[in-house]
Amino acid sequence: MQRIDTQLLVLGGGPGGYVAAIRAGQLGIDTTLVEATALGGTCLNVGCIPSKALIHVAEQFHLLHSAAELGIRAGDARLDITQSVQWKNALVDRLTTGVAALLKKHKVKVLHGHGEILDGKTVQVGEQRVHCEHLLLATGSQAQALPALPLGGAVIGSSQALSPSAIPGHLCVVGAGYIGLELGIAYRKLGAQVTLVEAQGQVLPSYDAPLVQPVVQRLEALGVALRLNTRVAGFEQGQLLFEQGPPLACDQVLVAAGRVPCTAGYGLERLDLRMAGRAVAIDEHCRTSMRNVWAIGDLTGEPMLAHRAVAQGEAVAEQVAGHARRFEPRCIPAVCYTDPEIVVAGLSPDEAGPGHRQASFPFAANGRALTLQAGSGFVRVVAREDNHLIVGWQAVGAGVSELASTFAQSLEMGARLEDVAGTVHAHPDPGRGGAGGGVAGAGQGHSCLTRLGCVNGALNRAIEKGDCQQHRHRFHRHRGGEVQ
Ligand code: FAD
Ligand code: NAD
Repeated sequence: MQRIDTQLLVLGGGPGGYVAAIRAGQLGIDTTLVEATALGGTCLNVGCIPSKALIHVAEQFHLLHSAAELGIRAGDARLDITQSVQWKNALVDRLTTGVAALLKKHKVKVLHGHGEILDGKTVQVGEQRVHCEHLLLATGSQAQALPALPLGGAVIGSSQALSPSAIPGHLCVVGAGYIGLELGIAYRKLGAQVTLVEAQGQVLPSYDAPLVQPVVQRLEALGVALRLNTRVAGFEQGQLLFEQGPPLACDQVLVAAGRVPCTAGYGLERLDLRMAGRAVAIDEHCRTSMRNVWAIGDLTGEPMLAHRAVAQGEAVAEQVAGHARRFEPRCIPAVCYTDPEIVVAGLSPDEAGPGHRQASFPFAANGRALTLQAGSGFVRVVAREDNHLIVGWQAVGAGVSELASTFAQSLEMGARLEDVAGTVHAHPDPGRGGAGGGVAGAGQGHSCLTRLGCVNGALNRAIEKGDCQQHRHRFHRHRGGEVQ
């Protein structure tokens, strides 16, 4: 048995764990990272990156077939999905290799193997016993299993769906949440017939109906079939069975019914931590109920998003280094990479409640959006009535994911409607950043002003005449030292 002593032991090398370890290394903390499968976790290997790669392949392929309306005939475009998967895998390899290099650069010791927690200061990894001062739990999440649909054969999970060897004739997707919609739309664009089966009354049930409506219209246009308020009972002989109604013949079933924190199989129960439902409970410092045992990322519950895990990981590393830090963001923006995309940050109108105003601006009112075939969707802003403090943003439309940083930044900075509306943006500069200006992105610069125009449209609708001078330029007053 080899004994290893370390200041910080990070269990799990996903975006939460590897970022925490790198940051800790940068801060001079003696750090050891334990990873059972592949560095990069769900995000780099079977989540965010591969799914966005597949969505890109699907989008490019679909464009070749859908440009006829514009008078463009691309001929007989064919898909070599094996090559597409190889391209995606090469991209993943490049990123995970980069993570390994960064860990090495910052002198993080990486142990490849399954970590078994013995107590709050000791983890066993094969023949190595690691003793630590601080234990950071970053073991992530796993797909929610459906007893009626065990994985195997034609029934697959998202990881398999990201590495197809062939595109099925008819794919049924069980669960029309983030994964179901992103991958369902991608498979449709890759040529499959797709049916989305959802237990609740609308797709993406966590969003309000107007926000989801443009996506539903697009699903109809693409020919994606919907079965709402439907629960599955099993899959037998090529037929998907439902609790009610006739079965549906299909070639493959993708189960995408949510994710749950990984809490079993590695001795977590030995710590007897306080739980929040199925997640490990943490406070605003990411501390668990046991001293010097920290937890971050999907293990700590919703929202299960990579950028939350990353931000928490940085916060923990800095606290272990003795910095005064908390993890208390005003918002964690979320983007759904559907067609069209959805972005939300902060409170929806319903969540904000009385004392707030909302205004939205449709892309259809923007001529440039129409010339880009991007006339579907809108931008919506929610702000306090009394001082115009912005409390939430929502948008649905082509390329609106690029607004996520702008929205989050305005919320974090406590911007008012007039602050964002009064920001002057350079033109044309696809790389500009900052509140209102971070809307541009690589390769999409031609439409960034369109999205920005609709942001300002929503802001102007929210600002009533005469309000402007009263609330304007709060940032300027900040800079002059007159903080209100
Ligand atoms: P994980 O990334 O799950 O990493 C945990 C790691 O811990 C794993 O590598 C695992 O092997 C390791 N581990 C677990 N137990 C042990 C043990 N006992 N010993 C050693 N190692 C262990 N989020 C977004 O923000 N944007 C997206 O576009 C997005 N798309 C997604 C698409 C899909 C298909 C999926 C499935 C998820 C997506 N997510 C997305 C969610 C995102 O992947 C997760 O929120 C993120 O990966 C969580 O990071 P984490 O570090 O908490 O855990
Ligand atoms: P989800 O919670 O987004 O959606 C699951 C859906 O399945 C829900 O709509 C739910 O009502 C439905 N459902 C559950 N049981 C069902 C059943 N028996 N029959 C039919 N429908 C059923 O979960 P997901 O799509 O699996 O994604 C998991 C998590 O991964 C997300 O919550 C998100 O945190 C993360 N993710 C994020 C992104 C992104 O940021 N773009 C993309 C993919 C995944």
